[in-house]
Amino acid sequence: MRDPRYDILFEPVQIGPVTARNRFYQVPHCCGMGYRFPSSAAAMRGVKAEGGWAVVCTEEAEIHHSAEITPYLENRIWDDQDLPHLKAMTEAVHVQGGLAGIELVHNGQHAANHYSRAVPLGPSHRAVDNGAPVQARAMDKTDIANLRRWHRQAAIRAREAGFDIVYVYAGHDMAVLQHFLSRRHNERTDEYGGSLENRLRLTREILIDTKEAVGDRCGVAFRFAVDELLGEDGISAEGEGREVVERLAELPDLWDVNVSTWQNDSQTARFAEEGYQERYIGFVKSLTSKPVVGVGRYTSPDAMVRVVKQGIMDMIGAARPSIADPFLPKKIEEGRIDDIRECIGCNICVTGDEVSAPIRCTQNPTMGEEWRRGWHPEVIPAAKDRERVLIVGGGPAGLEAARACGQRGLEVVLAEASEAWGGRALHESRLPGLSSWGRVKDWRLGQLHKLANVEMYLASPLTAEDILSYGIAHVALATGATWRRDGIGLTRHQPLAGLDGAAVFTPDDFLGEGDGLDRLPAGPLVVYDDEGYFMGGVLAELLAKAGRAVTLVTPAALVSPWTDKTMEQAFVHRRLVEKGVTLRLGTLLKGRDGDALDLACAYTGAPARLDCAALVLVTSRLPRDGVYQDLKARESEWTEAGIESVQSIGDCHAPATIAAAVYAGHRYAREFGEVIDPDATPFKREVIQVD
Ligand code: ADP
Ligand code: SF4
Repeated sequence: MRDPRYDILFEPVQIGPVTARNRFYQVPHCCGMGYRFPSSAAAMRGVKAEGGWAVVCTEEAEIHHSAEITPYLENRIWDDQDLPHLKAMTEAVHVQGGLAGIELVHNGQHAANHYSRAVPLGPSHRAVDNGAPVQARAMDKTDIANLRRWHRQAAIRAREAGFDIVYVYAGHDMAVLQHFLSRRHNERTDEYGGSLENRLRLTREILIDTKEAVGDRCGVAFRFAVDELLGEDGISAEGEGREVVERLAELPDLWDVNVSTWQNDSQTARFAEEGYQERYIGFVKSLTSKPVVGVGRYTSPDAMVRVVKQGIMDMIGAARPSIADPFLPKKIEEGRIDDIRECIGCNICVTGDEVSAPIRCTQNPTMGEEWRRGWHPEVIPAAKDRERVLIVGGGPAGLEAARACGQRGLEVVLAEASEAWGGRALHESRLPGLSSWGRVKDWRLGQLHKLANVEMYLASPLTAEDILSYGIAHVALATGATWRRDGIGLTRHQPLAGLDGAAVFTPDDFLGEGDGLDRLPAGPLVVYDDEGYFMGGVLAELLAKAGRAVTLVTPAALVSPWTDKTMEQAFVHRRLVEKGVTLRLGTLLKGRDGDALDLACAYTGAPARLDCAALVLVTSRLPRDGVYQDLKARESEWTEAGIESVQSIGDCHAPATIAAAVYAGHRYAREFGEVIDPDATPFKREVIQVD
């Protein structure tokens, strides 16, 4: 059972009129569900309460149609029409003994109002911050009175929907209250502008309004960015951030503090370590007697105990650790620390919100699938029969398939060609900043070692012949993928000319057993990124760290453009510049001629040349599906060999992210023994009713 060292984490905490059963607090976080997928959202939040989180919050909930951020799928509490879906969430949390929180927001100049076409509102005349060619209008006194009324009405509605904690929100540079607070956004000359007390006036008024409206039954939380990481140009922990906490100290029932913007708040492991916000938020507790919540991707109970004992926070705030493991508190409570599925800090979860699709997670393949597929993060039905399964390949897909099949009680044999488990989760974890990605393999290996019904073999490169000779009824090929060496990628659809015999490398040469670094010739290196996620940027970083002159060429207008969806893009750019990597954006690779590359402007086609001793192509991948294809070619021999099914999964099926490979492995196990109708949608949908 629970280690007494962790008892402190299970002490109740008073939040105004409500009591949290322990110190685990799921702070508001986006999930790409919001008002559009409310049943999915309710089930997902309910699972977290079941997993022991004392407080489970919604994502931001827009209080009014002038605060909407289409195309993003946040929550809405515009009027009573929103109550049924919000009630579904509070009920799902209450049934599991949790408190439900709602983050009310008016998005101010962050809301372009693409859907409502309302005129955006802010403290001053300012461009809407997402680049839409519209401006927020400076609010007059009537607007301010309206805003206060909208917030108050939303708070009352929230109480009616069953929420226990109601937020006032001034964070992430996404909320009008932060816009009012900020010197750079607020150039008003009335009593809402100028001095800090004036800029704080609206926040103070709304906090008081909210307490008066619902404070009898609901805790009123204040989410505040104590530091905008802008130095003297912004709110800072040494400056106005501290003063705000001093001035409002006892007014909210709870302080939920972080840094702004969201990019800074939710930094990936590549750019920030666990607990990286402590140095900013550490002062808050000394200025208030009210409970303080902070975040920092904490997954270790020892770190959690430390921050409580050191007086940094009273409650352990988490978005990502609660996504990767909704049962994190329960596992600590039950003394199952090894079972905690630790967040790897990759921000694939954020990509759901960024593309307006339900959340997904690299570590937790059930995230977002709780309602539509009925998947539970801890429970998986036992298989009907104790059938035998051979899984070939011990990367993310193979490990997860073996683990989940093992959990279902199947007899599993897992074979891996190399001397180590993990596939790309191992290899990529050796790249700069990605060591935590190894947790994908570590957690699965830890679980697999507890399963007596799973046999595991390293150094076992299997052929179709081997597999036919074993006579194991069900075979899953999770043999991964290899990077292309011909230049075909996102924008290029024909092989590149001039690559034969030249020094051409791919990421595989630097991963795993690859000795690419030793084989690189002297002279300038060029990384050509026509893929767009992290690999091109991280390889350029690796080569620059090795002391080489590196140019990163990409047809995209941004470096590592898809990392925009993981909120890393600006950090990637900055790091590459800091490492001395030369960037050539908007540039196509056309061919190679001796020691030079033929390039062309991606927009005009204007040609250019670039000296290049060695070219690293980061373009696209091909399934490593030779064994699968060999087996398919010998399908007539299966029956005699005792084989009933053969399936390729993960990158061997179609190369994608590690998250997709884990998901594929999990889905293989869940669907094992099921007859899948290829014509039927394999999950429940939330279909909008026609009026
Ligand atoms: P995924 O992301 O789909 O899990 P990976 O590339 O990470 O794919 O992992 C695939 C794993 O399969 C690698 O560890 C690789 O060594 C292993 N593998 C490839 N071919 C074979 C084979 N014929 N027999 C056993 N293991 C194999
Ligand atoms: Fe953590 Fe990545 Fe999962 Fe997000 S997607 S919770 S960052 S493991």
